[in-house]
Amino acid sequence: MVVTFPHMGNIYLAVKALFDDLDIDYIIPPPNTKASLQKGSFYSPEEICLPFKLFMGNIIQAIESGADTVLITGSCGPCRFGEYSELASIVLREMGHDLDFIVLDLSKDVGVDGFLRRISKITRDVPMSRTQKVRTVLNAAALMAKIDQLEARAHILAGYEKNAGDCKRILHQALARGLECVGSEEIGEAISAAQNEIERIPIDLEKDPLRVAIIGEIYTVIEPFSNLYIEDLFMDYGVCVKRHMTPSWWLRDLVMKPLKLNSLDLRRSSREYLPLYIGGHGRECVGEAVKAWQEGMDGAIQILPMGCMPEIVAKAILPQIQNDKDFPILTLIVDEMTGREGYITRIEAFLDMLKKRRERYRGGSFSTGILSGINSKRHGYNRSVRKKYGEM
Ligand code: SF4
Repeated sequence: MVVTFPHMGNIYLAVKALFDDLDIDYIIPPPNTKASLQKGSFYSPEEICLPFKLFMGNIIQAIESGADTVLITGSCGPCRFGEYSELASIVLREMGHDLDFIVLDLSKDVGVDGFLRRISKITRDVPMSRTQKVRTVLNAAALMAKIDQLEARAHILAGYEKNAGDCKRILHQALARGLECVGSEEIGEAISAAQNEIERIPIDLEKDPLRVAIIGEIYTVIEPFSNLYIEDLFMDYGVCVKRHMTPSWWLRDLVMKPLKLNSLDLRRSSREYLPLYIGGHGRECVGEAVKAWQEGMDGAIQILPMGCMPEIVAKAILPQIQNDKDFPILTLIVDEMTGREGYITRIEAFLDMLKKRRERYRGGSFSTGILSGINSKRHGYNRSVRKKYGEM
């Protein structure tokens, strides 16, 4: 058995760590590129959403390298994600590939027993006790959280760095180093080293960068290729970015869902505008927009793939939030036809508008709430400002 899985942001590092620790053969598909998108689009229904096309591209490229088992997450929810595994297995069968599909889903119809049965398909030949296997899975989950923390830190500190490019360099070097390591321990050490390094970069707290929330469809906000590397772009611009949706958020949400304890904060903040689940993460997107306004961000950018059903509903609600709260929100729709230049022009125009608003409404100075977590002693950060904005 040679397992593969589709890309979604840095999740490949945690899965690699898991399979290394369990000593399972695996193939990581090449990172998403135009070639993988073209390949995936060629074998996908024309109107299916972008994540499916990239997913197909990843799987086909991994099969070409010898993978015979596909591990993906699933859902019985109302959006197309519920169809992904079924549709992919039919298309790949028609292409002549005989693959095993393992769909990880914790929905009511599958249940915890069903979920564990599916996992055991991969782990049954691993010579470890059940406790050791569980510990290995937990280690990989902890590693994922650590990678998300590093990424979030880099995206915020990039707005304050004295030497342009420090955060981006440290983040990307850590990810590249992680890929060369074997097992959760080694990868974890590489990420810890980067965390230490990033906390030591010279920063300028006199800077008052723009702060933007990235919200929208989970795959497109997490997978950099699908959002045309928007977070890298913001790091280059020295803009702080905050993104709620991360692989570790998704994992927590999945585990807490059966207990109905998932995403309580987003459910609360979305209540006024969208009190129901509509599939995908449409409700969360609305909640994130309200939360971004509550946290004093300058604006939010919603990213969604063309034709994404839940996000289209959220998109229709966001102008109301924008008007009620006087909070700018830009929507960017991506698909395989999206041109980079037009996309960047819209982002730059949005940032210019945010800057002008700041000059007009607040005399050029905003709260520094997003600095939450910066070592106040070392950087001499004003504690009273943090208190004022509820960060302490
Ligand atoms: S959330 Fe949107 S993009 Fe994602 S699978 Fe559902 S319809 Fe497609």
